[in-house]
Amino acid sequence: MYELNDKLKRIEAYDPIEGNYKIRLDANESCFNINDIFGDKIAIAVKGLQLNRYPDPTASAVNKAFADLYGISEELVTAGNGSDELISIICSCFLEKGDKVLTLSPDFSMYAFYSELYELKVDTMPKENNLKIDVVKVIEYCNNNNVKAVIFSNPCNPTSLGLKREEVIRLIKGVSCLVVVDEAYMDFWDQSILDMVEEFDNLIILKTCSKAIGMAAIRLGFAVAVPKITGAMRAVKSPYNTDSISQAIGKLILSEKETLEDCRLKIIESRKELQSAIEELAVKYKKFEKVYDSVTNFVFIKTSAAKEIHSKLLEKSIAVRYMGSCIRISAGTKEENAAVISALDEILSGIEG
Ligand SMILES: *Cc1c(COP(=O)(O)O)cnc(C)c1O
Repeated sequence: MYELNDKLKRIEAYDPIEGNYKIRLDANESCFNINDIFGDKIAIAVKGLQLNRYPDPTASAVNKAFADLYGISEELVTAGNGSDELISIICSCFLEKGDKVLTLSPDFSMYAFYSELYELKVDTMPKENNLKIDVVKVIEYCNNNNVKAVIFSNPCNPTSLGLKREEVIRLIKGVSCLVVVDEAYMDFWDQSILDMVEEFDNLIILKTCSKAIGMAAIRLGFAVAVPKITGAMRAVKSPYNTDSISQAIGKLILSEKETLEDCRLKIIESRKELQSAIEELAVKYKKFEKVYDSVTNFVFIKTSAAKEIHSKLLEKSIAVRYMGSCIRISAGTKEENAAVISALDEILSGIEG
């Protein structure tokens, strides 16, 4: 009988929410469907593809569109099948079996997931009580514990908090190991270090089309690093990791600067509205221990009623993310925000004590 190895027996699959809910505020996606705006152009771009041919292995046109949008050089860019794939490549190729990776907690679960999959040692440093990152502690830990890579999201999913640019730079300068800064949500804040990437030979910045750009469906992410690292990334990735359809749509949409900017600002506005409405509920019902100061497109709430709130929202066909003693709610359209707020109002008014 074929037996799965211990690693495969141990691994817990990532558990995205399943089921059909009317309102989906659980995955931090954009509330705008680019097909509603650019459907015709996308159809033409896809129609023109030679589907019998392999895609461009370096995804050069989409890399260029991405580089132009962010004002960097395309030589620094590697496209991936979502930034997820890039995290997997970093863990499997830039690190060797048994190497130590430092993650901070709470943070995006995929860092530890891939590290464990590739038989790395994962050390987890808890964040401060206010869920902020103490950079000095992180530097000391890396330098005193033979850490080979530190990886974190900034701004952070799930805490919604951001680490200032100066602090991130201090961290990169303070260690000699690889530093991976996942800027998946940086489009909603203004502390990116993308413009500094060429100054550091131990830095990889990750970006994604899944959040502010509004294209989680096409699976497109980018790693940005100096040419030495980028050369290695491109060499080890699977040759056709991003398909022609994603490349074509990516190239098209990443060039639509004005529309992207418009959506980005509207999403930030939506999150601000959601945040203030949630803060009002916090005052009204005293059931939220803390509503964090978000610099992302979601709001993170600490509440001992998290489980009950989450399941009662699901009964009303509203999905949010439940994480232990917290819930995370993505900013939606005006209607979606109004629906989740009125549902929360009703649920909170019914909770005893
Ligand atoms: C959503 C998210 C991503 C995006 O992953 P993709 O594979 O590009 O969709 C990356 N990092 C964090 C922290 C995220 O929350």
